[in-house]
Amino acid sequence: MTTTARTITLIPGDGVGPEVIKSAQKVIEATGVKINWEVCVAGAEAFRKGIQTGVPSETIESLLRNKIALKGPLETPVGYGEKSANVTLRKLFETYGNIRPVQEMPGVITPYSGRGIDLVIVRENIEDLYAGIEHMQTPSVAQCLKLISRKGCEKIVRLAFEFARSEGRKTLHCATKANIMKLTEGLLKRTFEEVSGDYPDIESHHIIVDNCAHQLVKKPEQFDVIVTTNMNGDILSDLSSALIGGLGFAPGANIGDDFAIFEAVHGSAPKYAGKNVINPSAVLLSGVMMLRYLGEFKAAEMIENALYVTLSKDAIVTRDVKGDIGASSTTDFTDAIVRNMGEVCLGKGRTYKPLNLPKISPAQDLKTRSVDGVDIFVESTEAIEAFGQKLETIAAATPFQLKMVSCRGVKVYPNVPLKRPDLVDHICARFVVGDVNQPATDSMILDLLQKLSENCRWVHVEKLNRFDGKTAYSKTHGED
Ligand code: NAP
Repeated sequence: MTTTARTITLIPGDGVGPEVIKSAQKVIEATGVKINWEVCVAGAEAFRKGIQTGVPSETIESLLRNKIALKGPLETPVGYGEKSANVTLRKLFETYGNIRPVQEMPGVITPYSGRGIDLVIVRENIEDLYAGIEHMQTPSVAQCLKLISRKGCEKIVRLAFEFARSEGRKTLHCATKANIMKLTEGLLKRTFEEVSGDYPDIESHHIIVDNCAHQLVKKPEQFDVIVTTNMNGDILSDLSSALIGGLGFAPGANIGDDFAIFEAVHGSAPKYAGKNVINPSAVLLSGVMMLRYLGEFKAAEMIENALYVTLSKDAIVTRDVKGDIGASSTTDFTDAIVRNMGEVCLGKGRTYKPLNLPKISPAQDLKTRSVDGVDIFVESTEAIEAFGQKLETIAAATPFQLKMVSCRGVKVYPNVPLKRPDLVDHICARFVVGDVNQPATDSMILDLLQKLSENCRWVHVEKLNRFDGKTAYSKTHGED
């Protein structure tokens, strides 16, 4: 055990946050590991003070200094104004990997007890729909950009392999929706397949994410580590936590190249705030992950053992496990764990090694690039036949031809076998250059846009790129 004290940023957070964080502090201190806690604010209190990001500059400075934080849940304003303070922290400190272990708890009886669930979800934490890049494209159509980068994929995939190695795990599944979103989710799948060659000691499989959810409920013990995109990972990890007794037992770590923030998966559970009934295990286990990250393997194991003994041998559990009758309060549960420090329970039998943060390969140079045409999204409620003909007339005065018109990803003009009665006012016109040897240029696109804007309201433009000879855009349903 290290004898010099480390300084760690401590964010008690909102709702039940201060109660679970206090419990974690007490238990971690009982191991003998020396920590100076630097207590900082984020979330509701910051929003109330008018800090739009929910994270005051003092908190940012503390994390910049200390590099590591233990954090309680932060309330997120839903559907208006401010961004989530959680997302602000993840983005600001580039904690690109969210590691969420899900493990059967001794003494916590669930329909899955005895099956040995012990899996980890590694969720990409920065990109995807959670970047929150949203625009109302028309008064009635909203768009959220799903941005996935090659670099982001490589980082999360390598982190997942490295994490598997650090815990002596043998199998990694990559869960994506690449069958539908071939470019975005497909990028994670392709990167996974490329990178897996560097980790021959770990078995690697791809699984479609909806089947992954199904298999997690049907046969969760088949999984060891699952790597996935941000949104998928959020959903799969909440689902998985329910298999082992709920969010009260679901810890998490946000890992980046330079910073790490440890926090439970659960939120501020406002209805339980201040009632001394909440289960602090998820934050405690996040503290265990933090101790392992710090190289304090012995202390981490001590806490796990003390928690398991409390749950199983002493049968001391909180309300979420037992219901209202006979359950322990948060503070009594915490005291029992502290009393059991030094006790040993049959553990996972894992040998933990320090986590190697992955290095990313340099970006590959593109040899050729060109533009086949352009998708121009317009706001229109005109009858589609008449509108399509109007677009063709506009295209006739340019080097482009109208390939087709679509609405919400389905071709609606020309030559569609079935008329669609349910069009919305968000129409995509795909224009391509007539001569493939004459790729589209910016000035050609700008000229087309100018002509179009004299006749209708355009809202969004996407180039139809071709990289190294390969089309870099998806086909629309019904497009030939
Ligand atoms: P939540 O706070 O996670 O609570 C949902 C339910 O999960 C609770 O009602 C409770 O279930 C159970 N639960 C959560 N934590 C528990 C614990 N430690 N012990 C026992 N049971 C626990 O989710 P929410 O109500 O959707 O979100 C509340 C707020 O938290 C929102 O503002 C949300 O944005 C925020 N949030 C923050 C984070 C974060 O900071 N990382 C994460 C998620 C949500 P029962 O009702 O069945 O008892």
